[in-house]
Amino acid sequence: MWTAFYLKRLAPDCRIAILESNQIGFGASGRNGGWCSGFLPVTLAELEKSHGRNAAIEMYNESFRTIDEIEAVIAEQRIDCDYHRGGTINGATNLVQKARLESEISEMRRFGFNEEHFRNLATEEIAERLNVNNIIAATYTPHCAVVNPAKLVHGLANAVETNGVKIFEKTDVVEYSKGQVKTKYQVCRANIVIRATEGFTARLKRHRRTLAPLYSYMVATEPLTSRQLSTLGWRNRETYHDARNMIIYAQLTQDNRIAFGGRGAPYHFASRVKPQYDMHTEIHEKIIRSMHDVFKVSQELEVTHRWGGPLGVPRNWRPSVNFDRTTGLGSLGGYVGDGVGASNLAARTLAHLIVNDKHRLTDLPWVNRPSRKWETEPLRFVGINGLLKISESMDNYEANRNQPDKIRSFILEKFLGE
Ligand SMILES: Cc1cc2nc3c(=O)[nH]c(=O)nc-3n(C[C@H](O)[C@H](O)[C@H](O)COP(=O)(O)OP(=O)(O)OC[C@H]3O[C@@H](n4cnc5c(N)ncnc54)[C@H](O)[C@@H]3O)c2cc1C
Repeated sequence: MWTAFYLKRLAPDCRIAILESNQIGFGASGRNGGWCSGFLPVTLAELEKSHGRNAAIEMYNESFRTIDEIEAVIAEQRIDCDYHRGGTINGATNLVQKARLESEISEMRRFGFNEEHFRNLATEEIAERLNVNNIIAATYTPHCAVVNPAKLVHGLANAVETNGVKIFEKTDVVEYSKGQVKTKYQVCRANIVIRATEGFTARLKRHRRTLAPLYSYMVATEPLTSRQLSTLGWRNRETYHDARNMIIYAQLTQDNRIAFGGRGAPYHFASRVKPQYDMHTEIHEKIIRSMHDVFKVSQELEVTHRWGGPLGVPRNWRPSVNFDRTTGLGSLGGYVGDGVGASNLAARTLAHLIVNDKHRLTDLPWVNRPSRKWETEPLRFVGINGLLKISESMDNYEANRNQPDKIRSFILEKFLGE
């Protein structure tokens, strides 16, 4: 939808149809953790290695600016989506996590990003902002806002429809090729075809190994009372995560609920994506236990909502924006768990690639750099699930021994390498 939005701006006469297998907001965009961040699942050092220092800095700068852009569109289109820009706190609860935060800050400094972008929080400031159990250090960045994702996605749908874009729901695409998109019963013709199917991509013919669907799950509590809220602090609705390997993420919603998510659910053989996978009792219970560990006050709260969905993960863990002028085929995605902001930047980039107006965004390192495909099964199944197990046991090791788990860390690096 962001691609349609920006294409209509750059080429108002173009005719755009969005084919959606389910309904608008069915995908991750309608049910994520609401972090609208300038973060990318690729580090500055990795980008420097593949594209050079300046390209790495430019990629991060554009990603950070994306929050301004989304904020401007929300205001301009009057999208009511509980948007608030409170930044992000990244916490550490053991010495290994603390060292990880320090190395993140020093990498930022090495690339010229100063205190305005990322900084350490002093102990008093941590306590003032958010009451996290056992926290020993934290950093802060302003490059993140919170949104209600479903409200954002529906607001965006209204905006594009008002601009003449046609949305066809319950239209499941089976395959596509140059100039055409096939559903079970129909063929739709178009000069340009864009694939934006993220966690569901493996369902398309010839795309089983393009993006692996990894599930992320969330819970939300009943609203906090004013006493519980004041115990917690959290006046500025910063998003919160910590430096463990198996990611957890939290936000305080506009109606004062804790929305808390986590990864680590097993990958399903052959990249299967099914509605029944959207719920996972064991993982939801694990997430609730993590939430109780992180925010003591949450132990008093009832969990009122549980949900989940698939993320799109490329083999090299890096999102990309791709367009081939000769075939008219394009794609964008592979955001792993950072797609709310990144899908806007990717879409703006793709819109400029399509109209071919030579824009600074079209020189970004993620342009026309699709990842190699995932391994065939059963290697993919063994590899991904092994990786998830390793990440979890690394966290236990680090928490119990307060020292890095060098062997597992080495294996993880080897697996995640390009
Ligand atoms: C539980 C969870 C929490 C997350 N939390 C965050 C977060 O806090 N912050 C963040 O930045 N990111 C988060 N993410 C990731 C983020 O939501 C996604 O990266 C982003 O929304 C992807 O947007 P998209 O438009 O590319 O894909 P989607 O929003 O998944 O949209 C793809 C759409 O394509 C449709 N589709 C798929 N296949 C077909 C087909 N064959 N035919 C027709 N239609 C099809 C789907 O139905 C879907 O509606 C989270 C994801 C999940 C699952």
